Amino acid sequence: MFRGWQKVSYIEYPGEIATVLFTAGCNFRCPYCHNPELVKNPGIFPEVREEEVLQYLEERKGLIDAVCVTGGEPLLWEKELLPFLVQVKERGFKIKVDTNGSSYSSFLTFKGIVDLWGIDYKVPFSSYHLVQGEKEAQSVREVIQEALEIPEKVEFRTTIFPPFHHKKTLREMAKDLKNASTWYWQNFNPFKTLDKEAQKVAPYPLALLQQWQDEINREAGKDLVVIRPS
Ligand code: SF4
Repeated sequence: MFRGWQKVSYIEYPGEIATVLFTAGCNFRCPYCHNPELVKNPGIFPEVREEEVLQYLEERKGLIDAVCVTGGEPLLWEKELLPFLVQVKERGFKIKVDTNGSSYSSFLTFKGIVDLWGIDYKVPFSSYHLVQGEKEAQSVREVIQEALEIPEKVEFRTTIFPPFHHKKTLREMAKDLKNASTWYWQNFNPFKTLDKEAQKVAPYPLALLQQWQDEINREAGKDLVVIRPS
């Protein structure tokens, strides 16, 4: 299940010191994805054993506060991940899980155990074919609707990729997220991408994103959009 492990992170779980685990594989194919090997060929990475992680956590109680699971798409591993996270919770650690929202039923299964979600809202629901997630768009919609009921436990996230997003798109997406606490934007980084063609795309200048951020936040009447460094 796990094919990557960042033992300590000060940024992945706000205000907490976390250990970060990366799950293998993904059912989407976002052209800008910066984890192409983990998505397409995770077998090249050595497996991280769950017992080793639990042992590490045991030895660092009081030093590590949270376990973050990212990917890939963690919820593809529902059967394996749930019992692992139950053990993490029993040891008193907070849990953050990232998801692309492609499985509403898995989201509901994990809802009770997860303290903080990172949920992608990639493009307007009608455009999910762009990330090869057309079939899953309805699930993403349901996950986002459900997550908006618990806004304080959710970070909504979008990678701003010029071929997919412009001001109109983002304003449309903002309407769907108007009840969110925070919508994080991350500027596209062409350094390493799943689709090699994406490396030819120039990211938007930060100043332009900030201008759109100001407009959307003004319309929302709150600091909805926060730009994260890419
Ligand atoms: S960006 Fe996320 S959802 Fe998209 S292919 Fe990469 S891991 Fe999957």
